[in-house]
Amino acid sequence: AEELMINSEKLSLAGQLAAGIAHEIRNPITAIKGFVQLMRNGYAEKKEYFDIIASEITRIEMILNELLILAKPQTVKLERQDIRVLLAQVTTLLDTQAILNNVQIVTEFSPGITHISCDENQLKQVFINFIKNAIEAMPGGGEIVIRLKREGTDRIRLSIIDQGCGIPEHVLGRLGQPFYTTKENGTGLGFMVSKRIIENHHGTVKVTSCENSGTTVDVVLPLAHEQQTGI
Ligand code: ADP
Ligand code: MG
Repeated sequence: AEELMINSEKLSLAGQLAAGIAHEIRNPITAIKGFVQLMRNGYAEKKEYFDIIASEITRIEMILNELLILAKPQTVKLERQDIRVLLAQVTTLLDTQAILNNVQIVTEFSPGITHISCDENQLKQVFINFIKNAIEAMPGGGEIVIRLKREGTDRIRLSIIDQGCGIPEHVLGRLGQPFYTTKENGTGLGFMVSKRIIENHHGTVKVTSCENSGTTVDVVLPLAHEQQTGI
């Protein structure tokens, strides 16, 4: 009976995903098809048409990139990395977006060993997702604190704290559900993919939020074993 239940749970998540993918990808395809038809029927080839087509294709690419991470958890390649270095690279990458949005990113790293065993690109994807969500939650600008602190003896806690719009109770309950977004241009995949990556790294993620005052995303990850240092 237990096995059956697990199977049907899997089926419903797969079904949920399939329905979501079909829906999310059909919209941009319908738009692209429409503009291609317009041009084929002799309507002037306006630059705007190409712009829309290009941005709709980018949207499909974005969705597929995020889905591929879900489809290929077995390709996780673990390497010893300093989480501080990964975070520095990610914040540099997001600098322009932060500046354009009047957002200041402040880092508070407590001293100590911050090496973890991880797939660098996947974990960066997680940090990008959470920091982007924080930036997007503060349309009027504000501050994001990125805090690193030892958790117990063998783990590290990364907190991403924003002063944004916060997450209402009913949205909090749907976080991680595929394609659930409150944004005009959101995919609603970022959180689900991030959670999956963190779990693949034997970590946990927790969100605490207060409407109109901000959100904290806490990620706890195991530190790399000492013997892996080599030197
Ligand atoms: P997306 O960013 O594409 O909408 P996500 O899975 O990253 O998808 O997030 C899902 C939803 O959760 C967002 O649309 C938003 O409503 C909410 N959310 C996530 N992070 C935050 C945050 N830091 N502040 C406020 N709302 C958030
Ligand atoms: Mg997001």
